[in-house]
Amino acid sequence: MAGIPLRCRCGRMRGVARAVSPSGGFRFVCYCKDCQAFARFLEQPDVLDAAGCTDIFQMPPGHVTFTAGLDAQRCVRLSRKVLRWYANCCRTPIANTAADPRFPVAALIHSIMDCATDGRSRDALLGPPLCRIYEHSAIGSLPSNAAPPPSLRVFARRATKVLGWWIRGLARPNPFFDDRSKAPRSVPRVLTPRVDRR
Ligand SMILES: [Zn+2]
Ligand SMILES: [Zn+2]
Repeated sequence: MAGIPLRCRCGRMRGVARAVSPSGGFRFVCYCKDCQAFARFLEQPDVLDAAGCTDIFQMPPGHVTFTAGLDAQRCVRLSRKVLRWYANCCRTPIANTAADPRFPVAALIHSIMDCATDGRSRDALLGPPLCRIYEHSAIGSLPSNAAPPPSLRVFARRATKVLGWWIRGLARPNPFFDDRSKAPRSVPRVLTPRVDRR
């Protein structure tokens, strides 16, 4: 179990992801068009690999805390169900969450996790990606060492984890939603397909 510093590119937004380990979360890579559109909106092409995938670590929101730069926290959405969070100071992507704060998952994007600080690799801290999803939306050929397609076993593993986080009440405190009003801490801006998604 490790505490991984969270840090936007410019260092204004900072925080920590606690109790991180390969078994304490669920790492995967996503090739979907919405993740790609989010990276393009942020003008951060290096968030994606050459084939257009985003490296994501799902973990309980209750283990994520921001300690500085909260005023820079912003949110967009491309669909009804998913909120996409970023640091407005330097446009670093932070995480995807459900639009409902009761859903016990925060999907941290690799850019915000400062894995290198304690000298361990991302693979050592989080484990390798367990699967890839939406590969039909890839924009290039997948590397030979790409994560495997999802199997029933991997789906079941994720479902068990999410259920466990829910049972343990780890949806809270949720750093992306106001505790009292349950509203997103930043009003989601809707990205329209025509203007923002190209
Ligand atoms: Zn920043
Ligand atoms: Zn995606």
